[in-house]
Amino acid sequence: MAAISSGALARTAPLYDRVKRVIPEFEWATFADDVDAILDLKRKRNAVVLAHNYQTPEIFHGVADIVGDSLALAREATKVDADVIVLAGVHFMAETAKLLNPEKTVLIPDLKAGCSLAESITAADVRLMRERYPGAPIVTYVNTSAAVKAESDICCTSGNALAIVQSLGVEHVIMLPDEYLAQNIAAQTKVKITAWKGRCEVHELFNAEDVRQLRENHPGVTILAHPECPPEVVAEADFSGSTAAMSGFVGKEHPARVVLLTECSMSDNVAVLHPDVEFIRPCNLCPHMKRITLKNIRHALETNEHEVTIDPEIAERARRSVERMLAL
Ligand code: SF4
Repeated sequence: MAAISSGALARTAPLYDRVKRVIPEFEWATFADDVDAILDLKRKRNAVVLAHNYQTPEIFHGVADIVGDSLALAREATKVDADVIVLAGVHFMAETAKLLNPEKTVLIPDLKAGCSLAESITAADVRLMRERYPGAPIVTYVNTSAAVKAESDICCTSGNALAIVQSLGVEHVIMLPDEYLAQNIAAQTKVKITAWKGRCEVHELFNAEDVRQLRENHPGVTILAHPECPPEVVAEADFSGSTAAMSGFVGKEHPARVVLLTECSMSDNVAVLHPDVEFIRPCNLCPHMKRITLKNIRHALETNEHEVTIDPEIAERARRSVERMLAL
C-alpha cells in the first residue's frame, strides 16, 4: 500500500471537513492522495469533473466541479469552459456531454460503466416502434445510447418528463425505455403513453411492502421515491421526483426523518448538506455508477483513457433530440 502523504492530508483537510459526517477519518486518509492529485491535474489540464448524484461522497464532494442529476449535468455541460471533461457517472452521461461539447475531450474513467436502461433498447428497436405507431412522437429518456437518441424526436429526464410529454400537444406518445417512469408519468397526464419494457435494476428492487415496513419501523418518516421505482412504490411515497427534486424537497421541507428510495450514495451526498435531518438508508447500489473511483478518475486525467467518441452522423441527430429537450 502506498504511504499516505501528510502534505496531501493537510491540503485536503478543508474538503474533509465537509464530508466528515459520512466518511470516517481513516478512510479519508486513503483518499487524500488521489483527491490531491486530481485537483492538481484538473488545474494543469484545464479539466472539470462532472459528477452524478449517485457518485460516492469523496468524488461528489471531493473532486467534482459540477454535480447534479442527468438534466443538470446535461445543462451544465453546455456551459463548461474547459478543455477536458471527466464524467463521473455512466456511459450515456459521458455521451450526452460529448454531444453537447463536440470539440472538447470527454473522458469516462471506466468504459464498463453502463446502465440497465440504456442497454434495454437499440436504435433498431426504436425504428420498429416508429413503424408500429406511425405519427406518435418518440420521447426518449436520456438514459439511452446516442444511437437511440438519434432515432428519437426529443429526450427527457425524470425531472422534466411530464413537461416534455405535455408540451408536444398530441394525444399519444411513445416513451422509451423505462417502463416504470412511463407509467408514473401516465398517471399524471391525459396523454396516452406507450412504454418500452426497460427497467432500472436499482429502482425496480423497491416494492410497496418496503414502504410500509419503513413507516412501521421509523414512525413519522417522510418517504421520497424516484420515478424509476414501480408505480406501487410511488403511490405509497409522500413525494416522487428526480434526484434533484428529492434534494430540493429535503432542503425546503426539512423533514425530521427522511428516506430516499433511490441509489445509496444519494443519501450520503444530501446528508452532508443537511446535518439536522435524520436519513434512514435502505441501500440499493448501482454497480455501474460504482465503477467510477478516485483512482480511475486520476488515471483518466493522467492518460486520457477512455475518450468518448460518437459517429458524427449519429451525433448530429442525437444532439437535436437533446437540444429540443434543453430548449423546453
Ligand atoms: S441507477 Fe439505474 S438508471 Fe441509474 S445508471 Fe444505474 S442502472 Fe442506470
